[in-house]
Amino acid sequence: MSIPHLQGKVQTVLGLVSPVELGVTLPHEHCLIDMSIWFAEPQHVTGKQLAREPLSLENLWYVRYHPYSNLDNVQLLDEGMAIEELLRYRLAGGCTVIDMTNVGIGRDALALARISRATGLHIVMGAGYYVEESLPPGATMDEDAIARDIVRDITEGVDGTGIRAGVIGEIGIKGWPLTEGEKTFLRAAVIAQNETGAFINVHTGRSPSSPFEVVEYMDTIGAEVPRVVMSHIDRTLFTHQDRVRLAKTGCMIEYDMFSLEGWMPENIRMIYSEEEPTRRADLPNDAARVDHLVALIDEGFIHQLLVSHDHNSKTRLCRYGGPGYAHLLNNVAPIMRRKGMRQEQIDTIMVHNPGRLLTFV
Ligand SMILES: [Zn+2]
Repeated sequence: MSIPHLQGKVQTVLGLVSPVELGVTLPHEHCLIDMSIWFAEPQHVTGKQLAREPLSLENLWYVRYHPYSNLDNVQLLDEGMAIEELLRYRLAGGCTVIDMTNVGIGRDALALARISRATGLHIVMGAGYYVEESLPPGATMDEDAIARDIVRDITEGVDGTGIRAGVIGEIGIKGWPLTEGEKTFLRAAVIAQNETGAFINVHTGRSPSSPFEVVEYMDTIGAEVPRVVMSHIDRTLFTHQDRVRLAKTGCMIEYDMFSLEGWMPENIRMIYSEEEPTRRADLPNDAARVDHLVALIDEGFIHQLLVSHDHNSKTRLCRYGGPGYAHLLNNVAPIMRRKGMRQEQIDTIMVHNPGRLLTFV
């Protein structure tokens, strides 16, 4: 089933647009977000002091290494700053942003509409549940009720604002195996996908087994797998063989942590890998990410690739010495060209793939 007035269109926070208007699209970002659910209280006194300091030049390096141990860092609440940061992307040639902030991490439909008007960017808003820990008190755990909420967000609008969501996600999966609650979130997302024709983005669990388990489960319950995006592949799959195996399921592969290099902190309260409990997610750098993409293109999977930054904390923004939202256009596209990607291939990944997903079917 699909919804006639949505079919063939893209739904932004300012209304419906034609897919040809989208241009360069960042498929996984956060303009505003409250990630304080991931705040990890350090045990030692020095850490406790640093945890509550505002981000500054003096503590920037510490916070880059311990991003979840500084409360100021994990909150992007300043609308004026969001506009300033996103304008840099607009001026670099960016046109569209998908804001994956959904239920539990501070979704704010009216603010997104204002940011869209101020920047001239198309902004598409997410729907559905983030991870279990983030849910507001009293949030329903009934799959039909969650699905109804998602459909209402897409067809009528969010929180009585009349501003409508255009994607389902990011649906929060923490680890492996899936919990009963996570299965409920996924079932609700799939019911809503079948009803609306939207695509689904999944925040994949921190285990190399997670994306495979999620895709298989979603396939079993009737998801349209080519319209399901597996986020955060950069920190989830560590071999080319695994990436090819996942691509062969038909789902979308999203490298969405561009600019984040080094490692993921151990104190983040997530599960890394139950099969290999000592394994930690060492992140590739941008050059290695491009190598991974080129290898997947060589195997014929270009139409399943997406790239983004998933900026969700202050250290990632230009005002705090970070890369900002224009990083892919300004700094990564030249690496792609140097490594042999043709402009039409870059356009396929940055324009056409996200545009196809955003178009309701
Ligand atoms: Zn995200």
